[in-house]
Amino acid sequence: MKIGIGYDVHAFSENRKLILGGVSIPYEKGLLGHSDADVLVHAIMDSILGALGQGDIGKHFPDTDEKYKDISSLILLEKVYNIMIDAKYKIGNIDTVIIAENPKLFPYIENMKLNISKVLNTDISNINIKATTTEKLGYTGRGEGIAAQSVCLLMAIE
Ligand code: ZN
Repeated sequence: MKIGIGYDVHAFSENRKLILGGVSIPYEKGLLGHSDADVLVHAIMDSILGALGQGDIGKHFPDTDEKYKDISSLILLEKVYNIMIDAKYKIGNIDTVIIAENPKLFPYIENMKLNISKVLNTDISNINIKATTTEKLGYTGRGEGIAAQSVCLLMAIE
């Protein structure tokens, strides 16, 4: 088995949709980025690529490449899934934290878990998503952006 860690941050911006875990969340701002800026899915992808010893998402999906502009990060996650399968690994489990002062994310977490578990072809119980604030401290506390962390365990396919 192999373990990996992922971490990502995106800044809030006007006139952008807020997409987390592939769920569109009603909010006054969205996250700025070349793709849909799904900070949670980006952290998950980096944790899987990390476990595989395959670098990071910047290496696989450069933000200078027009074909990734505004792309759904779930499509990129599917590409990472295929890299994992080619390497003969499957998801053991994934644990994540989203760090955001606002909006409140609890109502959307089950749908995020469902989206991610479907793409990664694993049981929903293998995906955990936690949401926390930083008690108004730092850039997340001031509502300047959202951060996400992910740890994953991959199991060798026999
Ligand atoms: Zn990102």
